[in-house]
Amino acid sequence: MKTLGVLGGMSWESTATYYKWLNEGVRNELGGLHSAPLLLHSVDFAGIAALQKSGQWELAGEQLAEASRGLERAGAGAILLATNTMHKVATAIEGAVDIPLLHIGDAVGQALQARNVTCAALLGTRFTMQEDFYKRRLSERFGIEVVLPDPDAMAEIDRIIFAELCLGQFHPPARAFYLGVLEQLREQGAQAAILGCTEIGLLLDGVQSPLPLVDSTEEHVAMGLTWLLKG
Ligand code: GLU
Repeated sequence: MKTLGVLGGMSWESTATYYKWLNEGVRNELGGLHSAPLLLHSVDFAGIAALQKSGQWELAGEQLAEASRGLERAGAGAILLATNTMHKVATAIEGAVDIPLLHIGDAVGQALQARNVTCAALLGTRFTMQEDFYKRRLSERFGIEVVLPDPDAMAEIDRIIFAELCLGQFHPPARAFYLGVLEQLREQGAQAAILGCTEIGLLLDGVQSPLPLVDSTEEHVAMGLTWLLKG
């Protein structure tokens, strides 16, 4: 098997899921003691989150580009950037290495297309919901229209991500809030919901949802597994 580079730690709560699911996926496919050949660069998220907050995306992009070069030098044949938000700087990473970045937006877009979804709710950080980098990829490459929560709901969704989920706190009021938002977005015409933040699946694990859920972590891991296992 080839070696996959994972650029994670944003937050490590969800990177742990990537690590587990990549290994489980290889074991399910190949059996026995097989596991996933991985290189993990896990950043200190406090620094990256501070750069997000102060709008220093170029600097954040340079730091992730440098980490990606390290993964490439160490032998990774492709990179999974284990966060939706930091795909805002995907081009900085792509420009720094000669190996492919397996883009989370493409993993999500393909999953929606396979389910014949053309209009999807999007939950994620305020950057992922409000800015263009993620929605544009879904609309230009996959023809998917995105429905967003109202501004107050967006602020609360974002607050919960950074104040609870990224700290490993998964509380019933947050779960109830997210499900209430999904119900509203269903009424606005969404056919499915994108869990466009890699920690949201940890909060909504096993819930009865008003909309079918497309979990970015799950789809991104599936994309990584396809890359690892082909050839
Ligand atoms: N893991 C999250 C995401 O998928 C949020 C953390 C971050 O801001 O990178 O967007």
